[in-house]
Amino acid sequence: MKRVACGLGMGWLGYEGFEEFVLQRPDRARAIGFHNDAPATLDQFSRPAEYFHEDAGLVRCDLCPHECELGEDDRGFCRVRVVKGGRMHTVAYGNLCSINVDPIEKKPLYHFLPRSPIVSVAMGGCNLRCRNCQNWEISQAKPEDVQRFDALPEKIATLAIERGAPSIAYTYTEPLVTWEYVRDTATEARRRGIKNVLVTAGFINEKPLRELCRVIDAVTLDVKAFNDRFYREVSGGRLHPVLKALEVFRQEGVWVEVSFLMVPTLSDDPSEVGKFSQWVVERLGRETPLHLLRFHPAHKLMLLPPTPLHLMQAGREAAVRAGLCHVYLGNVPGADSARTVCPHDGQVLIERDGFRVLSNRLKSGACPACGRKVAGVFSV
Ligand code: SF4
Ligand SMILES: [Zn+2]
Repeated sequence: MKRVACGLGMGWLGYEGFEEFVLQRPDRARAIGFHNDAPATLDQFSRPAEYFHEDAGLVRCDLCPHECELGEDDRGFCRVRVVKGGRMHTVAYGNLCSINVDPIEKKPLYHFLPRSPIVSVAMGGCNLRCRNCQNWEISQAKPEDVQRFDALPEKIATLAIERGAPSIAYTYTEPLVTWEYVRDTATEARRRGIKNVLVTAGFINEKPLRELCRVIDAVTLDVKAFNDRFYREVSGGRLHPVLKALEVFRQEGVWVEVSFLMVPTLSDDPSEVGKFSQWVVERLGRETPLHLLRFHPAHKLMLLPPTPLHLMQAGREAAVRAGLCHVYLGNVPGADSARTVCPHDGQVLIERDGFRVLSNRLKSGACPACGRKVAGVFSV
């Protein structure tokens, strides 16, 4: 693999590590990706990609806001899309690095088919560069380097049926960059009565997202921080497209839950959690579940400590003050941090211990005491 740095510095993405991804395009200052890094020949895992166009001898990808401009044999910044024969291909199709059956609470997803198993699949690659990524061994790898299972869409839909799982999650890495595989698998799954869940950072352009939403039932969207600087300096993305994606999911009728990792000194300010919660109340609705997640040292942020518990609690209080009804703490011991209560009378409705549901008192998705419906999808 050959990476080319052209000395643009770290200004436009603000992340020193990005210099190594900058492609040399004298007249185009923003091109990123991997020069001359496509496989020598396309194999069984390659498919023609959607969402690209030709522009002055280069191929421009229209799938995500990075909008990589690639020449022949270049690979996109996500490592999933390559240019061969003057057009874009995905090298991740059916080329899975991970297949598991998880409890759905692990996604985290608390208001969507609680206590159900979910088939969870992933392919290598991601269009962000989070310094704290828990799954960097697969997210920051080429799909063909971490491939372990051959699984075309029918196989995953069949697996869900065989395992009694009512839904499939596209998760662990960034499913949006494997758009073609997710679309085809989700279409096949839906045809056979299985629901589809995305666990994503939401860094995608609007048009492909709206198209994908047609076959997606629920999403856990991981918002990295409520400021653009964090996105540029810690994650290698931008905030605005992510907020837009949240609104698009909501408009398209996809069930939305939001997660927010509180990274010590970088995104653990309770007032920022409060401001973000206010945004969620206004744009997505006060019954949108928010999962505040406790950071544990990972990847390039090994020297930071776990998030102090008092800040997690303060973040939760700020979110509740902003008007959110369902605010959960993830990776934090204590039953009340993962309890669903009735927004009307405070009755405890669902009790959890980690990813286990201990009790579920909902009756047809409503509080048995007052009859108030709880937002979510509680039956198949
Ligand atoms: S999806 Fe991949 S190739 Fe396309 S613009 Fe985003 S990072 Fe680049
Ligand atoms: Zn009630």
